[in-house]
Amino acid sequence: MTQEAFQCTMCGDCCKGKGGIVVSPTDLVRLVETLGLPTDDVIAKYCEKSGSKLKIKIAEDGYCVFFKEGKGCTVHAGKPSVCKAWPFFRGNLIDETSFLLAKEYCPGINPHISHKDFCREALSYLRANNLLATDSEREANALILS
Ligand code: SF4
Ligand code: SF4
Repeated sequence: MTQEAFQCTMCGDCCKGKGGIVVSPTDLVRLVETLGLPTDDVIAKYCEKSGSKLKIKIAEDGYCVFFKEGKGCTVHAGKPSVCKAWPFFRGNLIDETSFLLAKEYCPGINPHISHKDFCREALSYLRANNLLATDSEREANALILS
């Protein structure tokens, strides 16, 4: 992860809520490998359908089912691309107001970084980590830049 624009403080705020963590087909393969369970079991236990997309379930405490207080993400190696990509989401790249709101929301974003520098680092990071998506039917819109 780039150090200048973003350094996660592990506060866990982005793991809470029903925003919807999309599990793309690629994410599902990675999740299955990480958890060591059959695909059907992973889907049944940890995912839910949302239209044509698959998303991670939210637990009763309002957090993603993989979030544990004091531990953070318990499926780090297998977490979906949107989790790997945040805060470098499409909205924060194309809209400076969204970027400023993201800065207020996420303490990991360097409060001093300009939108231009943020975008430059974002594109470099997303490309280097193969996080850009193309299929709006099955992948997160936040990762579709073109
Ligand atoms: S809100 Fe930001 S700093 Fe907090 S866990 Fe999420 S990415 Fe990390
Ligand atoms: S998979 Fe991990 S990083 Fe992503 S929302 Fe769940 S706990 Fe947070």
